[in-house]
Amino acid sequence: MSHHVTRNFLWSEITRVDPEELPDVTRYLLLRLAEDVLQPIRDFLGCPIRVTSGLRWPSDYIRLKHLGYNPSLTSDHFAGLPVRTVTENHRKRYGEFYWLSVGAADIVPSCGVGNAWNALRDVASGATTGGAVIMAHAGKIVCGQVINEGGWLHVSNPPRVLLSDDYSNIAIHRRPWLESPDRGKTYREVT
Ligand SMILES: [Zn+2]
Repeated sequence: MSHHVTRNFLWSEITRVDPEELPDVTRYLLLRLAEDVLQPIRDFLGCPIRVTSGLRWPSDYIRLKHLGYNPSLTSDHFAGLPVRTVTENHRKRYGEFYWLSVGAADIVPSCGVGNAWNALRDVASGATTGGAVIMAHAGKIVCGQVINEGGWLHVSNPPRVLLSDDYSNIAIHRRPWLESPDRGKTYREVT
């Protein structure tokens, strides 16, 4: 499983499971993430990127919780894998399983998380409909979210990779640019 998904990224960096064994929707979302988000950001920054967390399985939620992180059951890291809902609110909105995750990765660029964040913010488009848009010299990069978590950046596919704009506005509310000062406990929107 050492084969490349894009020029600078290996499948093994974004999923521990052979991509051929993943559900089609999950493999598709990871491919979109690598080709449309990770590789363009890597090209734009011009520095190597380490992926510290890619596809997450529902069992990883429990593990991360025990490690003291603040994982979300509706995280885009689940990339279309169904996750059993636990709160009444989620059950009412999504049914027994949440499956609207569109794919995400946590990345540590070797040029530094703060430098990478500033470089991306410098060319951020003012428009936030449909996600966080980065006006890179080689072309627009459309992410769902870019989150500065302090030690890493969280980047995701735009919802429209899977859902219509209308439906994603109703079903999932993703603020495109966020910064967390306390490793995911609280977030503030950056505009
Ligand atoms: Zn993340």
